[in-house]
Amino acid sequence: HPFLEARDIELSFGETPALRGAGLSVAAGEILAVMGPSGSGKSTLLHCLAGILTPGSGEVHFDGRRIDTMSEAERSALRRDRFGFVFQFGQLVPELTAEENVALPLLLGGTRRATALKEARPWFGRLGLDGLEQRRSGELSGGQAQRVALARGLVARPQVLFADEPTGALDSLTGEHVMDLMVGAAREQGTTVVLVTHEARVAAYADREAIVRDGRATSLSPDRIAS
Ligand code: ADP
Ligand code: ADP
Repeated sequence: HPFLEARDIELSFGETPALRGAGLSVAAGEILAVMGPSGSGKSTLLHCLAGILTPGSGEVHFDGRRIDTMSEAERSALRRDRFGFVFQFGQLVPELTAEENVALPLLLGGTRRATALKEARPWFGRLGLDGLEQRRSGELSGGQAQRVALARGLVARPQVLFADEPTGALDSLTGEHVMDLMVGAAREQGTTVVLVTHEARVAAYADREAIVRDGRATSLSPDRIAS
């Protein structure tokens, strides 16, 4: 099996089919953009790959293990230890400072507070956030908040970063800045990235594209993207 793979996924929300035989594979270290119209099933497919949703049928494999049949406890441990997440609206914890938000995945993984904060700190310099460590997340601009969310997604050095419309709430210049930082940091750590976006400009940062339409996915090879 490829490093990360979904096969023949069917998933419905009540009577509404969201995925109808969707399949996708991602190589280790690859940055894959998942594109397609709104409502086509991109987020649902990402949630299946990340072990957040269990498909009605089909298989999800990660790093030699089948994850769709794991217990919720096992999947939760997998998400905590191997996966990182960035969503459209940062979703920072407003009561916490920026550095506490970045440290959160480490704290949830059992790292001591002082150590977690120490590991969070270099991310502020790396992502151009120097001086914002003590800010409450509500006091950050959209672009700053999204960079804090990116740091939080990467701080535990996940094997896979799942990014769902990470620039969707940003103006295009700020979005490009966040994408530059995301791709730079992912390549530096060798992190595999699954990037859901409906913007071609954002997908252009990826190594390869998959298109989701009506709950089915098609992979495009790089030469087809170029033509
Ligand atoms: P996309 O990410 O491409 O916009 P989604 O995966 O969010 O698409 O949604 C696919 C389909 O499933 C849509 O019809 C959407 O309304 C529906 N859907 C997604 N999540 C839910 C949910 N939690 N409950 C009911 N329907 C949902
Ligand atoms: P995205 O922009 O990532 O596709 P959406 O804005 O479609 O996300 O959905 C945001 C959240 O609402 C997701 O958790 C999704 O599962 C849920 N959702 C989407 N469509 C529906 C729906 N028709 N009914 C209930 N929940 C939905």
